[in-house]
Amino acid sequence: MSRPFDAIIIGAGQAGPPLAGRLTAAGQTVALVERHLLGGTCVNTGCMPTKTLVASARAAHMARRADDFGVVLRGEVGIDMKKVKARADAVIANARHGVRRWLDGMPGCTVIEGHARFEAPGRVRVGDESLESARIFVNVGGRASVPELPGLHDIPYLTNTSILALEAVPTHLLVIGGSYIGLEYAQMQRRFGAEVTVIEKGPRLIAREDEDVSAAVREILEGEGIRIRTGFGHIDFARSGDAITATLDGESIACSHVLVATGRTPNTGDLGLDRAGVVTDARGYIVVDDGLRSNVPGIWALGDCNGRGAFTHTSYNDFEIVAANLLDGEARKLSDRIPAYALYTDPPLGRVGMSEREARASGRRILVGKRPMTRIGRAVEKDETQGFMKVVVDADTDLILGAAILGTEGDEAIHGLLDMMSVGATATQMRHTVPIHPTVSELIPTMLSELAAAD
Ligand SMILES: Cc1cc2nc3c(=O)[nH]c(=O)nc-3n(C[C@H](O)[C@H](O)[C@H](O)COP(=O)(O)OP(=O)(O)OC[C@H]3O[C@@H](n4cnc5c(N)ncnc54)[C@H](O)[C@@H]3O)c2cc1C
Repeated sequence: MSRPFDAIIIGAGQAGPPLAGRLTAAGQTVALVERHLLGGTCVNTGCMPTKTLVASARAAHMARRADDFGVVLRGEVGIDMKKVKARADAVIANARHGVRRWLDGMPGCTVIEGHARFEAPGRVRVGDESLESARIFVNVGGRASVPELPGLHDIPYLTNTSILALEAVPTHLLVIGGSYIGLEYAQMQRRFGAEVTVIEKGPRLIAREDEDVSAAVREILEGEGIRIRTGFGHIDFARSGDAITATLDGESIACSHVLVATGRTPNTGDLGLDRAGVVTDARGYIVVDDGLRSNVPGIWALGDCNGRGAFTHTSYNDFEIVAANLLDGEARKLSDRIPAYALYTDPPLGRVGMSEREARASGRRILVGKRPMTRIGRAVEKDETQGFMKVVVDADTDLILGAAILGTEGDEAIHGLLDMMSVGATATQMRHTVPIHPTVSELIPTMLSELAAAD
């Protein structure tokens, strides 16, 4: 006997709980199945802990820079890693309990703890129980990918999950992977006092960004004493007691800890998708259409597991699209979403739309505007002048195609461009806005009035 529900949601990540909220508010019964921690990656091992730790690291960095601002600190700047961790743990616990209270307050929502697996298209098993519904929403997220590197499985490597348990600063952290998660941890741990080496197989850091962006990020990180090795061929690992040695193309690097930050794998391998007939791509992502529907009627996939986004805001937007289409009679589409995200190094990188390289590759005639942070008053006043802002505009339509703001407040200032792009405003319209002085954003219209043809 299966227990019937109007809807089953698998995974309490960023899309599952709000969807449960909308469905139950519409009078439906919902089973929300979670195998581990409510709130998923963002709350427990992703955005929230990392941004809390990044804030502690920035406090240490600014304390060391106190003298630059005429502030007198007596004695060395020290790190109490147990306290740093406790602060992150408290932020996580508070958010997780918030999700619990939210779900408990939804009449008609049954939270079931356990691992869900499809038995058939409309049927899911959790432990001894079988659940059935004509509508099943998969929100199972992803986990750290661990590459097959010689010797890696013989050393106690860390992932974005296990590194959160550290109560002491590593002596020497080796980060495998020069992309978003790896770089945030690299800078944070360096600011906590660790020696840090980042190794990246590709020729440069954050390869999806333009070359000028990745070069500037590299310069910022190297300026803080982080060693960066790109473009290596062979690597292997060996352990001797507590010491770990990584050997890159014959060069030995002794380290105390290794963080694997080489991408994410969707949690779809143990979901019984074959029994439901749900199609995945070669990397395990559930294939969805523009409305987040899988190939099987009555089964949707939301969030990281569909490979169409890798962020909290994209997962939440998946929920918004599905809820609007099912409950509000709308016809919202995934393809209407403008890609936007941030890299939370300090200074951060805010990104929206196409990179310059992507815009060029699209065959459009483009105009590019660029301004270094040294020519932005607010950055000068804050003495945080690293980085630059850049915008790419379609020369024929005057539409803004994309932008990057690597610099202080870059993660916030990018929203001015994102908002204008979202309403289809032209560069000229944005140039005519009157921004607040002094802000980083105030130079966006100026940058747009200095557009030049790209070579
Ligand atoms: C270190 C790090 C930093 C990040 N920083 C940012 C950031 O700053 N900004 C940003 O936007 N994004 C960030 N992300 C990405 C963000 O965390 C994810 O994109 C987001 O959490 C994805 O949410 P989701 O809803 O797809 O799934 P998740 O949040 O991953 O939730 C999936 C849930 O499903 C559960 N589950 C899995 N399989 C089953 C099953 N078979 N049965 C029952 N339950 C199951 C899991 O236990 C989990 O709770 C970061 C990620 C990491 C790792």
